[in-house]
Parts: sequence; structure tokens; C-alpha cells
Amino acid sequence: MNALSFNENTYYVGFDANQGAELQGQMVLDYIEANIDTLDRNGDGIIGYVLAIGDIGHNDSIARTRGVRSALGTGVEVDGAINSDPIGTNTDGSATAVQDGTLDINGTTYTVRELASQEMKNSAGATWDAATAGNAINTWSSSFGDQIDIVVSNNDGMGMAMFNAWSQTNGVPTFGYDANADAVAAIANGYGGTISQHADVQAYLTLRVLRNALDGVDIDTGIGTEDDAGNVLSDDVYYYDADARSYYALNVAVTEENYEDFLDSTVTYAPVSNQLDAAAHPTKNVWLNIYNAADNFLGSTYQPLLQKYDDLLNLNVEYIGGDGQTEANITNRLSNPDAYDAFAFNMVKTDNAASYTTLLS
Ligand code: CA
Repeated sequence: MNALSFNENTYYVGFDANQGAELQGQMVLDYIEANIDTLDRNGDGIIGYVLAIGDIGHNDSIARTRGVRSALGTGVEVDGAINSDPIGTNTDGSATAVQDGTLDINGTTYTVRELASQEMKNSAGATWDAATAGNAINTWSSSFGDQIDIVVSNNDGMGMAMFNAWSQTNGVPTFGYDANADAVAAIANGYGGTISQHADVQAYLTLRVLRNALDGVDIDTGIGTEDDAGNVLSDDVYYYDADARSYYALNVAVTEENYEDFLDSTVTYAPVSNQLDAAAHPTKNVWLNIYNAADNFLGSTYQPLLQKYDDLLNLNVEYIGGDGQTEANITNRLSNPDAYDAFAFNMVKTDNAASYTTLLS
């Protein structure tokens, strides 16, 4: 809230991490219930899954780990919240950070076990690391592969690495998050499912709140209230938390049943794809950073969407790609803030806002 109180035109735009995390867990549970007759590959009565964790200190990663453990009954509460720690390997069910869950399906009781989980961090310190996830599934599968019935990942980048390294050829459903184009396409080949953050709505909101502030109009313009070009969002795709000055895109599960609607993740959302008039909304200069230029979702989905919306909203955006590890790598390139009319910051760590706001004071 310190950051969001920087000035009267400061807002947060993101997606509802908890709603999406719960949805991912529910998606995996729904799959288990629908496919229980063929899911237990080694017939031991245990539905075993492995979990790729992105960053143990990251809000989204923590929420998604909790969402899966909550839905499958494998979570253990600590101080009122589900423990989100990685467990290493747990093939015997003895880990204390998780527990064996039980599912009653069609009159039969099954055990659900988190066989292994690990933060996918490489030797250089990069988290959410796809290559590390690919290596992990190779290690896990070589020692207890016949116990793995499901693979779950905190994101599609790691999920696809595991799918490509092992699960596709072994027919093991793999679930991710982000609805990256390659992951959505892989659903046709056995990828279990993913979660769309409605990146099309999220990218629009990112630039729309800037446009409204620059125009000096009500912040709801073109969001909950139709603008002069006919752009407006319905409340099933976003919500605004006024106390937190935060706009959130709502998530949707992408599975075998609906994936064809999500094959191109870089198409703008039709209800907010109308061009603004250049006379009424003159071109403004915006500085915008992506915290990690190598991140699959940000680079392949979010930024391409921003680049379409910046044209529609008459914004001249300079895109800066960070290294995903330090704020300084990004802030070092903001030496001339006077050259811009507005800023959008995508932080490496969610509590590092002061690294940016001090440059603008
Ligand atoms: Ca089994």
C-alpha cells in the first residue's frame, strides 16, 4: 500500500492469484475424478503426483502450491495456512510438510500422495527454471517413474519442460498455469490442462489505467464504464478492489473441453479492441518493464498483447526487459524519467516497489 499510495494515479494491475490457484487445484481434482479408472498406472491404489515449484518466496508460486495441495487433500496447515514448502522426495509418504490425501470416488477410497516437489532454481539463481524442471522429472522418473500418475507445475514453462522430457511419451497428464500457446496446443497431445490468467484482459487493464490517468478521466473509463470508442469489460473477466487500488483479471481453466478457444493467446479481447480517437486521446510516452525478458508467459503472451493494445490506446511504449534476478538490472535503464508521461513496473520481487518509486520522487 505504500507503493500504491505513491500518487493519486498509482494502481496495481494483475490477476487474482488465489482464485487461479484454487482453480488449478480443482482442475486437477476434476481430472482425477473423471479418469480414475485408468489413472493409477502401477495399480497400487495410490494416485501419485509430482509438483514443480517456481519460487518459494513468490506469492503466485506459494498460492498455486497451496491450491493443489488443498484440492487434493495433501496440504498440512501451519499457522492457519497450508504449508507451501517443497518436500524433496516422499515416495513412502513420510514427509511432514504434506500428508497423504484421500479421495472417495464412485464408492472407492483412493490415496493421493505428493511423491516429490522441488523449487526449480538453477545454479545462477534463476527461479521458475524450465531446464531445471526437465532435469528434475528425469531424475524422479528414473527412480520412481511407475508411481507418477500426474505431473503438476506452478507454470507452463516448467510444465512443458517436464511434458517434453518425460510425461508425453509416458502418457502422464501434466498440468501447468499461464495458458502459454505451446501448452494449450499440447493439450491435443495429452497435456492435462492449464489456467488462463485472461492475459488479454490483464494487458488491456495495464495500459488502460495509464491512458485514463493521462486523459484525466474517471479511472473506470473503458473498464466498467463504456468509453467513447465502445470499449467496456464485463464483471466476469475482472474486478476492482478499491481499498487496494487494484485491478484483477479473473482466471479460467483451459482443458481438453475448451482449449481450441485459447490456441492463440496473443489475440486482444474483443470487447476492448476498439481504436481510440487520436485527437481526443493524443499519443503519450510510456516506460514499461518486463521483469524477466526470458519468461515464456511475459515474453510470448503478455508483451505481444501490450504491443497490440498500445496501438489501440495511442500509447508510445518503450519496453524494457529485465534479467529476472535484480531490480537494478531494470532500474539502471531508467535514467531519464522526465522523457516519459507514465510508467508501468513489473517487479522482480513484490516487496521491492521502492526501488522504482524512489526514481520518480
Ligand atoms: Ca499409483
